[in-house]
Formats: sequence, structure tokens, C-alpha cells
Amino acid sequence: MLKLYNSLSRKKEEFKPYSEKVAMYTCGPTVYYYPHIGNMRAYLFMDNIRRVLKYNGYELNGVMNITDVGHLTSDADEGEDKMLVASQREKKSPWEIAKFYTDVFMKDVKKLNIDLPEHICPATEVIPEIIEFVSELLKKGYAYETSKGIYFDISKFKDYGKLGGMNLEDKLAGARIDVDEEKRNPADFTLWIKAPKEHIMQWQSPWGMGYPGWHIECSAIGKKYLKDEIDIHTGGVDHKPIHHENEIAQSDALEGHQVVKNWMHIEFLQVDGGKMSKSLNNIYTLADLKEKGFEGEDFRYFYFMAHYSKQQNFTFDALTSAKNSLKTLKNLATEHKNSDARLSEEELKGFEDEFLNAINDDLNMPLALAVVWKMLRGKKSKDAYGLLMKFNKVLGFNFDEETIPQEVLELAKLRWQAKSEKDWARADDLRQKITNLGFAVKDSKEGYTINKI
Ligand code: AMP
Ligand code: ZN
Repeated sequence: MLKLYNSLSRKKEEFKPYSEKVAMYTCGPTVYYYPHIGNMRAYLFMDNIRRVLKYNGYELNGVMNITDVGHLTSDADEGEDKMLVASQREKKSPWEIAKFYTDVFMKDVKKLNIDLPEHICPATEVIPEIIEFVSELLKKGYAYETSKGIYFDISKFKDYGKLGGMNLEDKLAGARIDVDEEKRNPADFTLWIKAPKEHIMQWQSPWGMGYPGWHIECSAIGKKYLKDEIDIHTGGVDHKPIHHENEIAQSDALEGHQVVKNWMHIEFLQVDGGKMSKSLNNIYTLADLKEKGFEGEDFRYFYFMAHYSKQQNFTFDALTSAKNSLKTLKNLATEHKNSDARLSEEELKGFEDEFLNAINDDLNMPLALAVVWKMLRGKKSKDAYGLLMKFNKVLGFNFDEETIPQEVLELAKLRWQAKSEKDWARADDLRQKITNLGFAVKDSKEGYTINKI
């Protein structure tokens, strides 16, 4: 039985999706700068959940947004659009900034072998859906217009603050004095911002030219791809008190019922025991780690060393120890692969059950790794290697020797046959199927080779 901690109920719960195909939403990056390894911990967390769900036999419908407009310098809608700040800093258009940093992000997640969601959607691609969403909220009386834009009226949504465990009165009383006298409540947040003429990113709307607030993009993108039933929504703990409260308010108000069943949050990655910050010069990217001789999968191993609900402290010593462990683990794996000895069914089942119990206990990856070590340090056998390859569907390391799945081998055979019969359409279709499974076929005169993408 898979159990996951739900930030909403503050309990570990048995995972029961709305349907067999799990609908999962992840708050994606704001593409205004290089992602750091703290951000990457959040996407490894997404990967971790996705792989564990697949290991349990679920199919997935995953969605992640790319924030390329509307995220102001403070999450509580103050300051300037981060994209514009970057655009001034780098003397490029916000579109160029978004493209550049989206590419960097995609390369980084690839280096970490992150299992990406089925849909990745930039905010600027769903402006009509956002406008529609805001219009509906206005119609239902949850939103109102001021000279600055359209705001969500939090006093109309009785559950506001339920994720952070704060009731509405506390939230209203606790909000700092807002200078905007047009707002009904200080903590009301922006759905749509009316743009001054010189603002570069703006779109036509029923309320004049403007651009969306940050929170609404996630609700609109979630609705577009996952409708009104989302099984799991992930993000970093920093998103809990504002961004995710606001997402809940918007989506649940629109649909008239709870949209997200299970909220899951990853605790922060600390560096040298403290926050990553520019002034301490300790914000590291994957490129910085590479420069010091560390690969993406070394950081992936490091991620597994702590539970996601605990802060994890990054030091180069800890990363070095992760790197060394991974190297030893791979060497042991090769020894198992080359052994002709066998393990009994019972022994294998023992390891398999222990591993499954660990990952299904709210993703206890440190314990899952301990099971892997116990197995690899035991009697060398081909069977243990086979089981390790199965576990690796969750771990996601690059074992050079990783075997190509039977399904891919068969598809490649059929494709070769289709080609020899000059049935190009079928051959292309089969190639696509192989690509979807994460492999690439390369043809030569003699035949074809298959590689992992
Ligand atoms: P952003 O691009 O700033 O919206 O952040 C992308 C993701 O990274 C969000 O889910 C954040 O919660 C998460 N995040 C930011 N800093 C850290 C950190 N130090 N540790 C873990 N997650 C983080
Ligand atoms: Zn979001």
C-alpha cells in the first residue's frame, strides 16, 4: 500500500487516486535566471514521486508550468515582474530571457535524468484560458476590479488559509498594512494586472491591456490539462503559505469543490547549514558542480540521502561521499552481473518487499538505499543484478550495462521489418513509440543500434 504525506490533512494517507491515471501537477520554474541546486531538489522530488507511482503500476498524466510572465519579485504580488527585471539586466527581450533559461532548465533536468511530466506549459501559452478563468471568478463574485487590475477577494472563500493552518481572521489581521486602498482585504491577490503602456508583455483582455498574476497560471494550466480532479500537487515549502493557498482559493472557488486531493511539499536544501544567498556566494548550479568534477547523478544520489520532508544540508564533503557511494554501488553491480550464482525466490522476494515497503512509506529513499546496499553487499548473483535494474526504475542512475527492455527490442524489430517492406508510416510510428519509451534507434547498412536517450 502506497502512503504519502498530505500537507492538507497533515497526515500520512493511503494514496487513492481519482482514477487509474494519476493526475499530477508540479509548480515549475520561473525562467528568469539559472536554476540552482535547491530548485533541482524540488524537481528531483517530482521525479521521485513519478517513478514511485510508475513502480506501483500507475499511469501518469503529469503537468508542469513554466513561469514566463507575472511572477513579481515578492510572491505576495509586490515589486516588478521578475522577467522584466532580467530583461533589463541582460538587455534582452523577456521572450529571449524565457527561451534562454527554459533551455538551461531543460538541459539541467536531463542531466539529472528527471522523468518529465507529460505536459510542460508556459504561462504565455494559456492567456485565453487565464482570461476565461478570471472572467468566471468575476461572474461568481469571487473577484473584483480596481484601477490596478482584477483581485481575488479572500473573504469570499471560507477555506482560505487551510493549507498553512491559518484561519481567515488571522490572515486578515496578520496581513501588513497595504497602501492600496482599493483592495477589499490587504491579502487579496492579483489575478490580472493592468499594464502601463511601456510594459513589454501585455495582452488584450476584457479589462484592457494587461498580464496575468503568477498564481492564476497554475490554476488555469492545471484546469486545462487535468480538469477539476488533481491527485497530487507538488512544490517547495516556500509555496505553501501564499502561492498554494491562492491556487486552492482560485480553483476550488471556480469548481465549487476541492480540486487537489494531496498537496506534497519538499523542504529546503540548505548550504553549509544556512540559506543559499547571493551575499554568501553559495548559490550553486549544476554547472558549478560539474566544474568541481561532479555529475548530475552524484547529486541525484545525494538527494536520496535525506527524506524530502527534512531540510537537507549541502556540503561538498557530503556530495563527495555521495559520488563515492555511487561509484562503489556501480562496481558492486558489475560484480553481481558477472556472477553465475543464483538467489532463491525467497531471498529475492525479501529484498523486493523491503524496497517496496520503503518507497511506499512516503518515499523513504534513505531506507530504500539501505535495502539496495544490503542486497549488493550480500551474496553475488545475477538475480540481484536483475532486481537492481528493477529498483533502478525508481533510482534512475545510469548503469552503462542497463539492458534494453524487451518491449523496446520488439518494437525495434517490427520497425526494421516495416522499413524492409517500405511501410514508412508504420516505421515512423514505431520509432515514435520507441522514443516515447526513452530510447533512440539509429540505422546503418548492417542494421540498427538502440540507445537510451
Ligand atoms: P522558482 O523558480 O523560484 O519558482 O522555484 C522553483 C522551485 O524550486 C519551487 O518549487 C521552489 O519551491 C523550489 N525551491 C526554491 N529554493 C529551494 C531550495 N533551497 N530547496 C528546495 N526547493 C527550492
Ligand atoms: Zn504553482
